[in-house]
Amino acid sequence: MAWSCSGKSNAELVDNLLRAGILSTPRVVQAFKRVDRKYYVSDPSDSYRDSPSYIGYGATISAPHMHANAIENLEPFLKPNANVLDVGSGSGYLLGLFHSLVQPGGTVLGIDHIPELVALSRANLSRDPTTASALCADERSPVDPSVPESKTMQCILADGRQGAPEGFVPSGGWQAIHVGAAAPHLPQKLVDQLASPGRMFIPVGVQDQSIYQVDKDEQGNVTKKRLYGVRYVPLTDREAQHPQGGSP
Ligand code: SAH
Repeated sequence: MAWSCSGKSNAELVDNLLRAGILSTPRVVQAFKRVDRKYYVSDPSDSYRDSPSYIGYGATISAPHMHANAIENLEPFLKPNANVLDVGSGSGYLLGLFHSLVQPGGTVLGIDHIPELVALSRANLSRDPTTASALCADERSPVDPSVPESKTMQCILADGRQGAPEGFVPSGGWQAIHVGAAAPHLPQKLVDQLASPGRMFIPVGVQDQSIYQVDKDEQGNVTKKRLYGVRYVPLTDREAQHPQGGSP
């Protein structure tokens, strides 16, 4: 049924995801309507198709129903003022959606380990009118939402298995972490960077992959819940993903 959610326009795609029950929360539906998927695909004919689409360097923009599942799961933590980390940000599409949900006051950081994909996500977010003015061009220092008029979203080059680089982690940690590639094991650095309370949505496994919802409560207790089986690109070494990734 998920595969039948394709539409002729962004609005039609979102309406189909809503009708199929994959999207249900009104503010999430609004965010999906606001951020047009056409800015994030490499092949325009895939804009509103409910399937993954190749973006280069061994990576795909995930299918809309997968993004919808992820955002609905993280929604209780995607409130104004929340700080969100997207590991394996690829096309940048989820950064646009997260950003729309955590304004005002929130920040969004995307990390990817392929320089060309970091550049692609920046280019995509710059042509999307809903995100263009929020994107920070500097990748050496983190955004600071307490500064008036400051930028609130950023894409940087980093190995997501290590979490966000030191200095980029907000003082209380991340209220939400999304991981867009399957980790062989749950990376402890990511668990450490989760706020109390906070939630991580992460595919774990090699042949047999499942989505895990990892929750940290107010006291810092961590619980893991297996949600369902999936098939994601691996969270891996740059060379293992694409031999040319990162070469001049
Ligand atoms: N969620 C994104 C991309 C999904 S593809 C989208 O829908 O557009 C998975 C992404 O994870 C790819 O962009 C890949 O380059 C990235 N990735 C894989 N291993 C990584 C690692 N160790 N560190 C950071 N990013 C990684």
